[in-house]
Amino acid sequence: MLAAEFKKPKMHCVEGKRKENFRKRFSEEELRKRLSVVEYAVTQLGGTDTSGSSRYLEETRNGFYHCVVCTKPLFASTAKFRHCGWPSFDRAQNDSITETVERGQHGVKLTEASCADCGAHLGHKFKDGPTESKLRYCINGSALEFKKAEA
Ligand SMILES: [Zn+2]
Repeated sequence: MLAAEFKKPKMHCVEGKRKENFRKRFSEEELRKRLSVVEYAVTQLGGTDTSGSSRYLEETRNGFYHCVVCTKPLFASTAKFRHCGWPSFDRAQNDSITETVERGQHGVKLTEASCADCGAHLGHKFKDGPTESKLRYCINGSALEFKKAEA
């Protein structure tokens, strides 16, 4: 997919997420080399995988989902469930996610979920999950790297 085809969501950060506030920082040059066009657009420009296109949508193996940018472990496979067109999780690893309130169209507030270490855009957090935590992290597969647990 070309970067030009990638639609930026029609919303903007209210509080503004500043990259310089994150512990791990990478140059744009390095990330453009290291990440695919889609991975870059999602994690650095706040883009969104097309519904149903996310890798790991059907992944059910045991392991961890890491930040594709900085490798921080974000979600355990035991937290994953199938809800919509993106990989969903009902809880995140401790201190792995930074939340930012975004205002979407018609003033609807959305909670953006980003990697706590590098600020990569991951997806959004909703409070309508089907499990006990009632949380639903709706995450772009392009922001994740799955590592299978050692058997
Ligand atoms: Zn990260």
